[in-house]
Amino acid sequence: MAVDQGEVQAAKSILWPDEKVELTVTQRRVGPGGSMATPTTVITTDKRLIILNRASLGMRKDYEVIPYRQITSVRLEHGIISSSVFIRVQGYDRDQGLLKNGKEEGEIDGLRNNDAKELADYLSKRQEQIEQVAEGDEPQGQMDNGMGAYVYCSKCGTKDNAGAKFCSKCGARLG
Ligand SMILES: [Zn+2]
Repeated sequence: MAVDQGEVQAAKSILWPDEKVELTVTQRRVGPGGSMATPTTVITTDKRLIILNRASLGMRKDYEVIPYRQITSVRLEHGIISSSVFIRVQGYDRDQGLLKNGKEEGEIDGLRNNDAKELADYLSKRQEQIEQVAEGDEPQGQMDNGMGAYVYCSKCGTKDNAGAKFCSKCGARLG
């Protein structure tokens, strides 16, 4: 797994103290609609997927967080000069970023072939692990274990009880 410590340092304010970065992948080539001035960096940790938009990284605001268990499919597409990783995310609603305007499948484009493969493999592995857990004792989708269903913060991925109005970790409004 390739981890760029510079990227980890740049994301320091977003990462949790106990969070372990396992892979960093940065856009190298510009796809349609992309721009060399604003490469996107994808960070996978032991807890969640984080997508950073370098354009406003200084502001530490333009990033999105996707919990692995909300990823429903991962697809790799090799192009001539670069590759893309496509992911589908369940219950993820944002008006900007990877899945803006209600897009069903988000594309992380402009990746080096090796980087794209590594990212797709990593996310697929995560998916398998979650499916194994789900087959164990938890029903798929929204869970109810007697405590009520859970919600996941769209900002940081923290799990909270469904009735919660604000994220217990970052304070973002839930629902
Ligand atoms: Zn949160």
